[in-house]
Amino acid sequence: MARITVIVEPRYADNSPCKHAVKPSGKPRDPESGCPGRTAFAVVCSEHGDVGRPHHVKVLAEPAGVAHRQEHRAAH
Ligand SMILES: [Zn+2]
Ligand SMILES: [Zn+2]
Repeated sequence: MARITVIVEPRYADNSPCKHAVKPSGKPRDPESGCPGRTAFAVVCSEHGDVGRPHHVKVLAEPAGVAHRQEHRAAH
């Protein structure tokens, strides 16, 4: 069975992923990057894709990712 990875992915308002580095404040690290800013954080599983709906703040997405990882562990 393939190894399953669960990540928290920042998303823009159009649901596309943000790959920019940002400061803890959420502002882009590079002001020239053209990053419009993240509006949501999605939990993405390598097996299931998006898990639930994206969260508006990272502190809510992270425990959702941990919970999903534990579901996989429990299923084995
Ligand atoms: Zn960005
Ligand atoms: Zn999964």
